[in-house]
Amino acid sequence: DARPARRPGWIRVPPTDHETLQWLKSLMKQKTLHTVCEEAGCPNISECWGSGTATFLMMGDVCTRACRFCDVKHGRPAPLDWDEPERVAQAVRAMQLKHAVITSVNRDERKDGGAPIFAMVIRRIRELQPGCSVEVLIPDFKGSLEALQIVMDARPEILNHNVETVPSLYPTIQPQSRLEWSEAILRGAKRMDPEVLTKSGIMLGLGESMEEVRAVLRDLREWGVDILTIGQYLQPSRRHAPIARYYTPQEFDELKQFGLDLGFRWVESGPLVRSSYHAAEQVRALSAV
Ligand code: SF4
Ligand code: SF4
Repeated sequence: DARPARRPGWIRVPPTDHETLQWLKSLMKQKTLHTVCEEAGCPNISECWGSGTATFLMMGDVCTRACRFCDVKHGRPAPLDWDEPERVAQAVRAMQLKHAVITSVNRDERKDGGAPIFAMVIRRIRELQPGCSVEVLIPDFKGSLEALQIVMDARPEILNHNVETVPSLYPTIQPQSRLEWSEAILRGAKRMDPEVLTKSGIMLGLGESMEEVRAVLRDLREWGVDILTIGQYLQPSRRHAPIARYYTPQEFDELKQFGLDLGFRWVESGPLVRSSYHAAEQVRALSAV
């Protein structure tokens, strides 16, 4: 059993609606699509898929980076599949989604990081499932503003990019990433289109100190980020980075208040919070104002 050690009581996983999950899984298979919901074994899958939200993983299931918290395979990916945006948009329509989250592996072998695929899928979802908001959870594109501009030109509702952890843990947790690249992307997105909501998040429990967490939140706010997500890191298997500690629900609440006091317009903070958790409500609440 590769599952990590005992979890505290507040990491409670809601029961799975097997019928819905089976139908959706076969849909994904038929269209040869990948979802983070399935691949990461996300604990919120019944709630999200039941309420019209899903997160698609595009550009293959092999990543050019090897972050130590992540369960995606690492290696040399296959060439991009230019028909994939069409199939994702069709799945979005078949699932009658209200909010689609589109993410991808890192494609560092490409100068554009695969940005055109994001732009294509945003535009195609607009055509096939009008009224569905689109959130793109993009890689750092190594800080390339040219790549970012391609995505921003398609005008997603939310431009999401996670910093994942505090700077002192980058060398051990995500050695191929740079905080400066994330800064360039998040600042750049706000500058290019101030109306697009920007969003970022971190995981807790990888060995960071509370002061480091607060410092990252201050940075993100300084870069103009609107929406913040904070969740507990759960080790996918014993081969992944160990869990340094579990944060209590009260600590998550305190960080939520800290974030709101800093001026974030929306903060999701809790043990089971994931990047795309409750994303549909964020769009509805924040686009109206
Ligand atoms: Fe999928 Fe995100 Fe919901 Fe998890 S939180 S089930 S990854 S949409
Ligand atoms: Fe996983 Fe993203 Fe890191 Fe690739 S870049 S290993 S997909 S977290």
